[in-house]
Amino acid sequence: MSTFSGAVFKMAEQQFETIADHIGIPTHERARILMPKRAITVACPIRRDDGTIAVFEGYRVQHHLTFGPTKGGTRYAANVDLGEIAALAIWMSWKCALAGLPYGGAKGGIAVDPYSLSPRELEGLSRRYMQEMIPFVGPDTDVPAPDMGTNEQVMAWFMDTYSSYQGATVPGVVTGKPVAIGGTVGRREATGRGVAHLAARAMDHLGIAPSGATAIVQGYGNVGSYSARTLQDMGLRILGVSDHTACYYDPRGLDLDAIDAHVAKHGVLAGWSSEAAFDPSQLLTQPCDVLVPAAVERVIDAEVAAGLKCRILAEGANGPTTPEADLVLDERGDIFVVPDILCNSGGVIVSYFEWVQGLQRLFWEEEEVTRRTNIILDRAFNQVLERARVDGVSNRIAAMTIGVERVLDGKRRRGIFP
Ligand code: GLU
Repeated sequence: MSTFSGAVFKMAEQQFETIADHIGIPTHERARILMPKRAITVACPIRRDDGTIAVFEGYRVQHHLTFGPTKGGTRYAANVDLGEIAALAIWMSWKCALAGLPYGGAKGGIAVDPYSLSPRELEGLSRRYMQEMIPFVGPDTDVPAPDMGTNEQVMAWFMDTYSSYQGATVPGVVTGKPVAIGGTVGRREATGRGVAHLAARAMDHLGIAPSGATAIVQGYGNVGSYSARTLQDMGLRILGVSDHTACYYDPRGLDLDAIDAHVAKHGVLAGWSSEAAFDPSQLLTQPCDVLVPAAVERVIDAEVAAGLKCRILAEGANGPTTPEADLVLDERGDIFVVPDILCNSGGVIVSYFEWVQGLQRLFWEEEEVTRRTNIILDRAFNQVLERARVDGVSNRIAAMTIGVERVLDGKRRRGIFP
């Protein structure tokens, strides 16, 4: 698979091999499951505010088409490349299959630092990217959503660009849209709330009472901020938070209201407090009950894993823990891992509800969204724990095994053409 390279893709490949060995997928059948079906690279030219033309590279990888359209977010970050996007698409497949959603995985992105663009440039680039993607996406083909560096506004531009081309509003082409134009209530909060819900299930499993328990959250974007807020609402004390601009820690607990007010005004954590400033390289290894990595991939390597002092690792990010770190965690056996494809699946579950509501033009109350999300999260959580027990494997291997097995089963039933 020479098209895809890099540490993140290798990690997805390595994890898949572990699962394939575990359930004995014959070697000749493995590439059929792992190899992404489609990988699209587009050049996105825009006119900058200073009159010059800049070209940004855009990607979309659609991993498999066995169950219906593909589904996954769109990442804007300077270091995005095809290998990383492919890995994230593959993880989306296992995630959707574990949750029982009728999707294959996808992921897209643009190699750009979104903070380096003016609002006009960001809109121009977003519209250009979607315009280049028109032949490849659609409500029945591939349904983008937000990921790191994108938000509801970007999804609104995506939908508007696609809809202008169609000559009619097509809400089902993206999820994570503003509620005012066909988004669903509860999507913005969904991933973070899901992380907190599953962390609470893990606490219950271990007999830890939420009131008086403590949490640390790395990453303060959509996922991290709503995870922290919901955990605090459940009674936990938030000891530490960080983003790419700042890190804060206070053993007495941080004032999230003040932090959220600062972020609403400035967009980032930087500048909130000098007293609570803390070394970001030490944050993950501070003692706490629940640790939520909610930033980028591969932040927990073998060394960090050996130094963790949490009881529960609730993975809000995709791929935060390396396979080498997994070996350390398995050996330690004292940390309950809620693996990424389970832990952060609240986001894509509510995206599924948004897509369904958009297709039906029938919108639900927030209670309905939350109730149905928790049913799916609880079912997946129970299935993962049961599978881990029966197979004698980690929660991560159990979760990925369920996802991979469902994709394998679907592919075997549909057969190979001709
Ligand atoms: N980007 C999110 C993820 O990694 C959400 C994808 C979606 O809602 O389709 O799960």
